[in-house]
Order: sequence, then structure tokens, then C-alpha cells
Amino acid sequence: MLNHTKQYINGEWVDSTSKQTIEVVNPATEEVIGQISDGTAEDVDRAVHAAKEAFASFAATDREERIRLLEAIADEYENRKDDLIKTITLELGSPVTKSEEVHYQMGLGHFREAAEQLKTFEFTEQRGSSFIRKEPIGVAGLITPWNFPTNQISTKLASALAAGTTIVVKPTSKTPFASIILAEIFDKVGVPKGVFNLVNGSGSTVGNAISSHPGVAVVSFTGSGKVGSGLMKNAADDIKNISLELGGKSPLVILKDADVKAAARSALTQIATNTGQVCSAATRMIVHEDMHDEFIEAMKEAVGEFPVGDPQDKKTFMGPQVSEEQWETVQSYIKKGEQEGAKLVIGGPGRPEGIDKGFFSQITVFADVRNDMTIAQEEIFGPVMSVIKYKDMDDAIRIANDTVYGLAGYVFGNDPEELKKAALNIRAGQITINDSETDMSAPFGGFKQSGIGREWGDYGIGEFLEPKAIMGFPS
Ligand code: NAP
Ligand code: MG
Repeated sequence: MLNHTKQYINGEWVDSTSKQTIEVVNPATEEVIGQISDGTAEDVDRAVHAAKEAFASFAATDREERIRLLEAIADEYENRKDDLIKTITLELGSPVTKSEEVHYQMGLGHFREAAEQLKTFEFTEQRGSSFIRKEPIGVAGLITPWNFPTNQISTKLASALAAGTTIVVKPTSKTPFASIILAEIFDKVGVPKGVFNLVNGSGSTVGNAISSHPGVAVVSFTGSGKVGSGLMKNAADDIKNISLELGGKSPLVILKDADVKAAARSALTQIATNTGQVCSAATRMIVHEDMHDEFIEAMKEAVGEFPVGDPQDKKTFMGPQVSEEQWETVQSYIKKGEQEGAKLVIGGPGRPEGIDKGFFSQITVFADVRNDMTIAQEEIFGPVMSVIKYKDMDDAIRIANDTVYGLAGYVFGNDPEELKKAALNIRAGQITINDSETDMSAPFGGFKQSGIGREWGDYGIGEFLEPKAIMGFPS
């Protein structure tokens, strides 16, 4: 049993003021694997006070000190590799190879990238007779989700530390143990006391306490639009800064000249990776009408390359949904797709054949989807794909942009002019052409209802800074 019922406040593991705990479930087995504290607003208050106390001295550290700190964190993170991979596999149900290649690596990448960015980050600027300095904003309140237990929290932690802010973080209660390892790492490398504080508990209690605490200067949240909107309302009371990384319904535009087999694999990878629980996943495949049937056939042939099942098995590509609640949500969307008249061509409702426990869904593909159907408009957060036909490039771009979201976009094909046209006209924060590698120094975040602000690299650091302009500064 992984029992971690203490909070990390002011450089120590301390008891919560609550005696209640929250159980954490392994979604592949449905068994309870451990407990965390069901923290309170008083715990948050203690953590914010510690972070406020530590702020002035941490904000005054120079970049070299913070580079050393981030590198020490990254080194110790590497020492904890096995623990991190094991934990993410247990609490999220992520297949063990993906826990390593995706989750472990991305978390590490953010600490290394922040250290690298800090080497050249421009904190000051002389403009004529004005001197501009970017200063740490104050205590940062971070609230993070379960879908990437290290990536989502590490990007915020790395940026906040690089900027010189102090932190109170509430990780999700669904996959909290990877964050506890991060706290152990911070403790081990000697992050100064009060700079990093972790309060476990429920979203409604601890998350609300952070976003309404007057001692918090900025709230950085990743999760659902509904909760993000509520946090923004809380933050409005005392004019806190806020950055939100919310959901998406991202398009993959497949050009007429694309290799259809490669396009089919790319599309399946999009929905099967992390069981579709990826905010930036492409879930609307916008395919030329002449290629449509061939594309569906190519996916039917390729779907066997994405085995679903036991996360501990190295051959598994896709594990379960994170929770029963998410599984129910995914199932209800699959039913909705059928009711609305979309054509089920791969998968469908219920668990995959041969699996009778765990929150496993089937890789599910709908053809003949109209972009105004619920399954094409709402974020499902499961392995469910909508295939939508287009006639020409203008039609494809119109469909791609006909959404309230704008987190990511993807284009697949060969003609450089068409690739550029699609990439430049899709309204979203990050566009990927032909499965290009992720660039962790590039800004990540959304247009429209996908969010406010940017994470990763220098843009991420900027979210935790306030520019000060000084006129007539003696040189
Ligand atoms: P969520 O409720 O938005 O949870 C995200 C974070 O906010 C978690 O730490 C959660 O804590 C906390 N939280 C929950 N209610 C809160 C409240 N009232 N005030 C403050 N904080 C609160 O997301 P979810 O329910 O786990 O997932 C629902 C949907 O959100 C998904 O289907 C997906 O569409 C979207 N989502 C998007 C992302 C993304 O990467 N953009 C990530 C996750 C989910 P607890 O987990 O402890 O409740
Ligand atoms: Mg929730």
C-alpha cells in the first residue's frame, strides 16, 4: 500500500488538520493502491504563509543558483526513474513502456529545458532611457490534472522555479503519488524551505482554497473548462493572474496526397496514446472525400498494432481510462455517436474482448461524422475518433476551425504549399506537420476556449513574471 497522508509544507512532511483520507485506485485492476490526505483550507493557508515567507529571499536568488537547483532536480529525477515509472503505471494505468518513453521523459524534459532557457532568458531590457525588469510575480498556486502525472506538474514547477516564484501545488487526487515522488526529490536536493509546498486533497476544497487565497498572486491550472472557469471567477475577486490549460477537439487534416497507411497509423496513434486522455490529441480526422474509404480500411488493418490491456505488459500500447467516472463518460459518448447517426467502423461500447475488469475502453472510430454532432464538438478524453470528409482545402480549414477549442492542430501529407496553408490557417496554439517531434522549448497553450497563457520553455517562465518599467533609471 502506498500510504502518504502527510502534506509537504515549509520544508517538512506534516500532518493535515484533517484526519480524512482519499483512496487511490489502480484503474487496471480496480483495486485500492493507497491513500492520501484529504487536505483542508487550513492546510492551504499554512502552505501559502510558508510560500510568502520564503518569497523575498527566493525571488532575490540569481539565475546561476536557480539553474543549479533545476539541474539538481533533474539529476535526482533521473535517480528516481524506476519509482516514477512504476508509480505512473500503477496510478494512471499507463502501459509501462509509455510510462517511460512519454511520462518519465516529458517530466524530465521540462526541468532540463527550464535550466537551459534560464541561461539566456532576458530578465532585463534597456529601451532608450527606460529600464525594464521582469520580476517574480509572487506566490504561485498550481492545480494539476491526472492525465500526465509528471508532465503537467513539472512544466509548471520548472517554470515557476526558473522565474523565482514560490509555490503551493495541489496535484490531482486521482494520480497523486508521482507528485509525492517529486516532493521527495525537491526535499532531497535542498529546495529552500517554503519555496515548494504540496497540499493533497479534493479539488473542491483544496483547489478552491488556493484560487481564493489572497496570498496567492497567480493561479496556473490544467484540467477541464468547467473547473477552469470556476477558478477564474475565484481569481477575479482579488485580481489574481491566471493561466489555464484546458481541453481541445483538435483536427488532423489529411491531404489528398498523403500516404494513406501512414496517415491511418498517425490517426490511431493520436487517439490511442494515453487512452485518448490527452488535451492536445487529434480526435477529428478531416479526410479528403476521395481518400475516405481507403483511409477507413487502412485503419481497420492497422488497429491490431495498438494492443489494449495489461499496463504491466511491455507489448501493451493502450491501458484503461483513469477512473470509472471517465470510463462512463467515454461509454456515454460512444452511445451518443450511434444515436446521432455516425457510423461505427471500429470498436464500440463496452470493454475490449477478453477483458472483464478494469476501466478499459475499445479503440473506437466513427465514420460519416458531421462536424456539428456532439462527438465532433465535445472533448471525450477517450480513444474515440470522428472521421469527417472534406472537398477542398478551404472546406478542410473551415471544418477544422468550427470548434470552440484551439489547442492543437495537425496536418499530414506531402505538398509543401498545402501543408503550409493548412498550418497557417488552423486557429490553434500548436500545429504539428507530419508527426514532427515535440519541441519542448516551443510555447504550448490554447486559442479560444482551450485556455489562457502558455507553458513550456521561455514562454512558460514568462507566466510567473511581472514586467516593471523604470523611467529615468540612472545608468
Ligand atoms: P478537473 O475536474 O478539471 O480536474 C483538474 C484538477 O482540478 C484536479 O487537480 C482536480 O482535483 C481539480 N479540481 C476539481 N474540481 C475543482 C474545483 N471545484 N476547484 C478547484 N480545483 C478543482 O478534471 P477531471 O474531472 O479530472 O476531468 C474531466 C475532464 O477534464 C476530462 O474529461 C477532460 O475533458 C478534461 N481534462 C483536461 C485535461 C487537460 O490536460 N487539458 C486534463 C484533465 C482533464 P481532483 O482531481 O483531486 O478532483
Ligand atoms: Mg472533476
